[in-house]
Amino acid sequence: MGTLSNEEIVEAAETLRPRLGEMLGKSGASQAESLLTSLDTSNEEAVRRTANRLLDIFQEHAALEEMKDTVSMLAPHAESSGSAMRGYSPLGGEPGPIAAAGVLYRCPVSGCDFTWQPQVAGQSVPLCPHHHRCLVKEGEC
Ligand SMILES: [Zn+2]
Repeated sequence: MGTLSNEEIVEAAETLRPRLGEMLGKSGASQAESLLTSLDTSNEEAVRRTANRLLDIFQEHAALEEMKDTVSMLAPHAESSGSAMRGYSPLGGEPGPIAAAGVLYRCPVSGCDFTWQPQVAGQSVPLCPHHHRCLVKEGEC
């Protein structure tokens, strides 16, 4: 059993939230609850501190094994979505350059006269076929 990452601990605790009462008892559960409720997940330091506190609480109530089980249950899921995100897909919702209709784009390479104009808003901007460079909006460079 490897070490749990802070994110895994928090995620496992979130998943176990409906069962915290039976696992941790009343006071443990309300401590864990308030930690999860007040946690700002975009704050790495807060996640680390919260994960440490959660670990302590779970350990105190001999619920650590159950948390680890939960993490390993979550892991395959996290893994698959992670690898899906690693493979770049132009349709994957990444905010790539999306053209607005009517705007003229041109190749940033000086001397290249390739221009492109989207017919519909929301088309992704192609690469210059000669230089394979991202086209830039007319007047932007
Ligand atoms: Zn070009």
